[in-house]
Amino acid sequence: MLAQHVGRPAVPSVKPGEAVTRGQRLASKPDGALGAHVHSSVDGEVAAVCSLYVDVEATGPSLDISPGQGAAADPGIVAAADPGIVAAAGSGIGAATGSGIGAAAGSGPIAAASPVAGSGAAGGEAYVPIGGSTVLEMIEEAGIVGCGGAGFPTAAKLARPLGPGGLLILNAAECEPTLRHNITLLESDPARAICGMLHAMRTVQAERGAIAIKEKHAKAIRSLRGVIDRSDKISIHFLEDHYPSGEERAAIRDVAGVLLRPDQLPFEAGCVVLNVETAARIADAAEHRKPVMSKDLTLAGQYCGAAFRDRNSVPLMDVPLGLPVSALIEHAGGLSQDFGELLGGGPFTGKAVLPATPVTKTMGGLAATMPFLRVNEKMGLLVCACGADQQRLMELAAAMGGEVAGIEHCKQSAQMPNGTRKCENPGHCPGQAEKVISLYRQGARALLISNCSDCTNTVMTIADRLPVKVYHSTDSLLRTAGPGLIRRKHI
Ligand code: SF4
Repeated sequence: MLAQHVGRPAVPSVKPGEAVTRGQRLASKPDGALGAHVHSSVDGEVAAVCSLYVDVEATGPSLDISPGQGAAADPGIVAAADPGIVAAAGSGIGAATGSGIGAAAGSGPIAAASPVAGSGAAGGEAYVPIGGSTVLEMIEEAGIVGCGGAGFPTAAKLARPLGPGGLLILNAAECEPTLRHNITLLESDPARAICGMLHAMRTVQAERGAIAIKEKHAKAIRSLRGVIDRSDKISIHFLEDHYPSGEERAAIRDVAGVLLRPDQLPFEAGCVVLNVETAARIADAAEHRKPVMSKDLTLAGQYCGAAFRDRNSVPLMDVPLGLPVSALIEHAGGLSQDFGELLGGGPFTGKAVLPATPVTKTMGGLAATMPFLRVNEKMGLLVCACGADQQRLMELAAAMGGEVAGIEHCKQSAQMPNGTRKCENPGHCPGQAEKVISLYRQGARALLISNCSDCTNTVMTIADRLPVKVYHSTDSLLRTAGPGLIRRKHI
């Protein structure tokens, strides 16, 4: 896919019939435009090129998808990024790694005429290394974009230095229920994420770093403390356990105490926010000259494979970009029951995908949900700016067989000049009585809502009194893969 990011699509630089090597650039960011390069995730031959995608037929060994527990961290990469934390991660820190770790960022470009073998956190397969002489250039060369789903090009995000007191927030909220891959990365390989965080902090000249994480992720917090405890630059900030505590402006509000308007950008609060996987990919680029060729994601649903015997959501690390989601389902042993839809992403913001849909740089999950519940009442749609949008709620209402009686938006949902919506104060309910009563007066006897945790509980209180039934856009996936529905009272 040539448009896996915010900005202009990448421009293909290969032709049909051409042999390509893993890590080779397939398409380039247009000069002077916002965008990101795209690289091959496999050795192979270019089968087709068009304005939407470059199709590469793999000729190498069969694709290997890592299970949830990633490779052990190599603390040497933290030492390379910041000698100030050298002593923090225990034994082995600062020792020679034998794999070139730490050499790349400080010693100029690697001679990159032929593929090099990655190592440690960068994976064991050969790839064509990226160029670039500064970390910012390497981030752009690697084609890194926000892995949390936004897809904003990371080089553009980090291009502007923060002013005095600048704060970089590592966003480890993982606030979409069912997704676990970012926390898994922190549990198994915290040094990789911290290394990328430190590189990013230097790049934007941030004075401080904060890891925003929910207190319930005790194992990840212990792992992080093993790496950062002697740092006076990085602290841990506990987030409340609700959706959407990981929304960018919510994280800034809760960590830095500044509530930005929907039209303001994080640097206006002296902040940059980076997702955990994005930070890890910065470490891969800066320490290993590794381009983005894969994505971590969480596979949810009821599958036949052994990994799903006693759980129904499994993190998968380093899934090759471009792999069709049907291959993930096959990898999980196939589906054990009929499904309602294939959902790319988490329950709040995911979109329906097809078996042939490729894994992209922003796909955080793949779920096969149970068949949709059927609804006989007229439905009112209540749309949140941080959850399923109006289009998605209309698709869900149609799939449930409900006739739409009316549509309302949460009153904190502000329309932006480009037509998208943003919440004025994410996750803090402004009251929903007016909207629920309006939908009831329009004939709705059931509501389909996409509200945040706080607003959903407000809706439930009002809906009980009218009464109307309440369905949430996340129900289908959460009934399939837990951890419980987004409301106090279940229908
Ligand atoms: S306050 Fe409204 S718009 Fe904001 S997150 Fe909650 S439901 Fe969504």
